[in-house]
Amino acid sequence: MLINHRMYVPKIGITALVSPELIFACRGEPFDVNNIIPASRIYPANKLCAWTAIWKEMLLKREIAIDSLVVVAGGDCHNALVDGQKAAMSGIPTHFFFYPFDGDPEYLELQLYRLSDFLGGIESFEKFKEIKRLKELGQMIDKRRCQGKISSGEAFRILISFSDLLGDLNRFKRAIESIRESNIEIKNRVALIGVPPIYYDFHETAESLGLQIVFDELPYEFIRHGGTDIREIARDYCDYTFARPLDFRIDFLRKELERRDVDGVIHYTQFACHHMLEDEVLRAELDYPILTIQGDLPGNTPQQIKLRLEAFREMLERLR
Ligand code: SF4
Repeated sequence: MLINHRMYVPKIGITALVSPELIFACRGEPFDVNNIIPASRIYPANKLCAWTAIWKEMLLKREIAIDSLVVVAGGDCHNALVDGQKAAMSGIPTHFFFYPFDGDPEYLELQLYRLSDFLGGIESFEKFKEIKRLKELGQMIDKRRCQGKISSGEAFRILISFSDLLGDLNRFKRAIESIRESNIEIKNRVALIGVPPIYYDFHETAESLGLQIVFDELPYEFIRHGGTDIREIARDYCDYTFARPLDFRIDFLRKELERRDVDGVIHYTQFACHHMLEDEVLRAELDYPILTIQGDLPGNTPQQIKLRLEAFREMLERLR
């Protein structure tokens, strides 16, 4: 049988933000291994953070079919560095990607060239501009959600998918086109900071309890960075806040929270995630009522967290 190797598009697993522009331009199909976790029902045998433990277990059992893996080893997640190495030791071709803590664009440019070599080199330059246009639509969705024209749950599902654009730009365009606008009464404008909740229904739950999420910190990073070549990407992605010092991220947060006129902040933390240690600093530095919650295993939002969201809403209403 003749196989047309030119048609084969390798599936590239990514463990955190890795420029999807570059992966598509190298004729790869990015696949964010985190995006399947909230809907999964896997309780991993050996874990710290459930996010990395579940994708690691699924990779080791070959329940996620990928051709190679890019692990963000220097940047926003220390657990991924270890669990990514376990996946590499099981035989999955793996590349380790590092963001510069000091934001040095030349360092990041070198990292991107190394990644491009790992992926086989750039073949499709038009993908850069195609994704730039999609990210402009992402900015529009974010804005319309803030204006109460798109529900926070619907906006979140699209914004979080900008990490890999569903691995298929045409499918992703259709997903964007399917968004329907409505008029949502926003009573309590809330920012959701930290890593995304592991509960698949978190935004709908918050909205049903009178808290409208008008800012999703990490997904916003997915839509605000881009570029039409490696040099531009390096100069833009070097401001990825989760990979930078905390004071850099806090300065950025202050501007976004003010711009979106938020009434309060929910800081989502994940069991056994080092970002939990940032809670006391965020509380000290951000001048808003803050609710800190912690999740562990995927599923729907637990009753105990619902009660805390309700109490937070009541507190925000009392402060008015
Ligand atoms: S929650 Fe924390 S430890 Fe878990 S994958 Fe995200 S950054 Fe890593």
